[in-house]
Amino acid sequence: MATNFTYLASSERYSHMATMYNRCGKSGVLLPKVSLGFWHNFGDDAPFERSRAITRYAFDHGVTHFDFANNYGVPAGSAETNFGRLMDEDFRPYRDELFISSKAGYGMWDGPYGEWGSRKYLMASLDQSLRRMRLDYVDLFYSHRYDPNTPIEETLHALVDIVQAGKALYVGISNWPLEPLKAATRYLRERDVPLLIYQGRLNMLNREPIEEGILDFCREEGIGFIAYSPLAQGLLTDRYLNGVPSDSRMAQEHFLKSDRRTPELLHYLHELEAQGKASGRSIAQEALNWVLAQNGVTSVIVGASSVEQLKNNLETIL
Ligand code: NDP
Repeated sequence: MATNFTYLASSERYSHMATMYNRCGKSGVLLPKVSLGFWHNFGDDAPFERSRAITRYAFDHGVTHFDFANNYGVPAGSAETNFGRLMDEDFRPYRDELFISSKAGYGMWDGPYGEWGSRKYLMASLDQSLRRMRLDYVDLFYSHRYDPNTPIEETLHALVDIVQAGKALYVGISNWPLEPLKAATRYLRERDVPLLIYQGRLNMLNREPIEEGILDFCREEGIGFIAYSPLAQGLLTDRYLNGVPSDSRMAQEHFLKSDRRTPELLHYLHELEAQGKASGRSIAQEALNWVLAQNGVTSVIVGASSVEQLKNNLETIL
């Protein structure tokens, strides 16, 4: 383990306390309005020093919340492993200033115990995440998706026990439909481990959490809501205005397919661009601003493949 830290965080990092943070539901936790997600651009498939620069830039500007899942990065798990190295080399002195989340739910290892919502899987997965990230605990642990074949009591009881074992401080739920979310809220509240936050996909092109009543439910119940893919994986930026750059997510044709770049989308983007010009905002800033303006949204989790992108996104709120 490195003992001589070469990274000294900016002394200005909390100079925007009044505007940078939102209370997470009715909890004691403040989260930055813009959080950083480690799904893409932080695995072994990305240059480590670029990932380090983005992470440092985030923290230097008050982004205290970093979002992971067991399977992030290529290969799966490498985003957490690389962050473990960053913990040892850069961030160990700042552990108590960081709010780190991870999740389990999607396929992570072979065999019957490597995905979904069993106690067996959740417990083992969090232990693996902690080892990869070189952490004693995460601040927040999520069930990453609803498992229709596991009793929700089994999944939720595992979350409660994880908190009671000190391996996570808070629990969250991601991608669950409304009815099981309501049941989970009751179950967890009765056990004094209230649901801190719901993580769902919300952006100008995907409004399901609003349409399905999830955002309203969270607000009414005092549960935070954090929006993932607020830029629709980059669609809601200037990235694809003039084609598909070879270093972009769309060029990989995996999670973001080029058939999403339709004439209708380009028309929509040009309208957003024109709308933003009036207020001096980029397309990305217009898109993030829209999500943050929805009543009940605590934070947006942005991805970034460069410091410049993150800087542009943070200018939405700074
Ligand atoms: P975004 O919608 O923010 O998309 C990020 C991508 O958009 C970047 O990788 C980059 O693309 C492009 N981009 C970002 N900022 C700019 C900018 N200012 N100008 C131009 N292009 C820009 O989010 P993600 O889809 O990456 O998701 C964010 C996080 O949400 C994840 O890391 C993860 O933590 C979480 N998440 C959770 C899920 C869940 O099931 N709970 C599912 C998905 C995500 P490029 O890389 O091509 O440059």
